[in-house]
Amino acid sequence: MKVLVVNAGSSSLKYQLINMKDESVLAKGNLERIGMAEPLLKHTPQGGETIEIHGDFADHNAAIKQVIETLMDNEHGVLDSMEEIRAVGHRVVHGGEDFANSAIINDEVMEAIKANVELAPLHNPANIMGIEACRKMMPNTPMVAVFDTAFHQTMPQKAFMYAIPYEAYERFGVRRYGFHGTSHKYVAIKAANILGKPLESLKIITCHLGNGSSIAAVDHGKSVDTSMGFTPLEGLPMGTRSGSIDPAILSYMMEKKNLSCEEVNSILNKESGMLGLSGISSDFRDLHSAAVEGKGRAQLALDVFNYEVKKYIGAYAAAMGGVDCIVFTAGIGENTPEVRAAACGDMEFIGIKIDDERNRTVRNRPEYNGEINADDSKVKVLVVLTNEELMIARETLDLVF
Ligand code: ADP
Repeated sequence: MKVLVVNAGSSSLKYQLINMKDESVLAKGNLERIGMAEPLLKHTPQGGETIEIHGDFADHNAAIKQVIETLMDNEHGVLDSMEEIRAVGHRVVHGGEDFANSAIINDEVMEAIKANVELAPLHNPANIMGIEACRKMMPNTPMVAVFDTAFHQTMPQKAFMYAIPYEAYERFGVRRYGFHGTSHKYVAIKAANILGKPLESLKIITCHLGNGSSIAAVDHGKSVDTSMGFTPLEGLPMGTRSGSIDPAILSYMMEKKNLSCEEVNSILNKESGMLGLSGISSDFRDLHSAAVEGKGRAQLALDVFNYEVKKYIGAYAAAMGGVDCIVFTAGIGENTPEVRAAACGDMEFIGIKIDDERNRTVRNRPEYNGEINADDSKVKVLVVLTNEELMIARETLDLVF
C-alpha cells in the first residue's frame, strides 16, 4: 500500500511516496520555483542518487504531473502505474475551528479549507492549489487533508482566548490556534512508545525547535496549550521571527519610524528573532560558532532563546500539574545539545536532570533510545526525530482504509 504525501507551498512542492507496509520512503523530492524562471525538481529514489530535472512547471498542475511522471520514470521511478498510489495525504496549514482531526477531502471539506484562507493567507491558497492539482490528475484516488492546527483544537478556552474584546473572537476568529500540530502529535506518540507507557497516562512537553519553533503541553494525549497563537509569530523567538513581545511595541515603533502595518509585520517576521538580536544569522550553527569566537551578539541571542524555552517548560509543567517527559525535536531540538542543556539546566526542583554525556552523544548512541536524562531524574527527557510526512501518511491510511 503506497501513500503519496504532498506539502504544497506557493512556489514549491515537497513530496514523499511511502510504502505503508514497512513505512519506508520509496522516493522523495522537492520542486522549487514553480511558475518562475528555471524551475527545478530534485528527486531521490530509495537507495539512489538525487537527480535534478529542469522542466517547465508553469503551475501546480504541471508540477504534480511532473512528480507523477518522475515517480513512474523508467530509470529513476519507483512505480509501474499511477494506480499504485492508493491515497494522497496533503499538509494543510490552517483548519481553523472546523477541523479537530484530519479529513477525507470532498467538496464540503474543500469549501471549509477555502473559508479558512483568511486565517492563513500565505499558506492555505498554496495548499489548495496542490490538492486541486492532485484531484485533477488522480480523480479516483482518495485524498486526506492533515492540518497543522488540528491537534491543538483540544485546548480549553482559557488557554486559547486572548484578553481582548470578545467580539474579536466571535466576528474574526481571533484566538490561539497553534501550529506544528502534526509534529507535536508524532513525537508525543513516539515518546510514549519509547517509555513503554500509554500516551493517555502521560504529561508531556514537546519542544519543536527549528526555524519556526513551538512548544506544546500534551496532557494525557491531548494538546492543552501551545506557544504559537493566532499566527506562527507568537511564542518563542525564532530564526527571524520575534515571538511574543509587548503588543504596545508595535504602535510605538510604527510612530517612531513612520512604518506601515506591512512594514512592521515584515520586521517582526523576517528581521527579528535570532537574526535581529545577534546581527549575525538566523541559523543556530552560525550562532554557535560566532558565540565561540565572541562575535556580535550571538551569545545574547542564544541566551534569550534558551531562557524562553526554559520558561515555557516551567509554565507548561505548572499548567499540567506536573510533567513526566520532555521531548526535543526538529533541527535545533534534535541537533543542539547546548540548547537542551541550557533549557533543562537548574531544573532539579521540578525533577528534571540531564546527563551531560548522554546529551552530547545521544544521536550516535542508539542504545540510549533518545534518552538524555540522568538515571535519577524524575522526568524523562528525550530527543525524538520528528517525521511529519510519516504522520500525514499514517493519518491518511487510517481514514481511507
Ligand atoms: P524548519 O523549521 O525550516 O523545518 P529545521 O527544523 O530544519 O527548520 O531547523 C533549522 C534550524 O536547525 C537551524 O537553526 C539550524 O541551524 C538547526 N540545525 C539543523 N541541523 C543542524 C545540525 N546538524 N546541527 C546544529 N543545528 C542544526
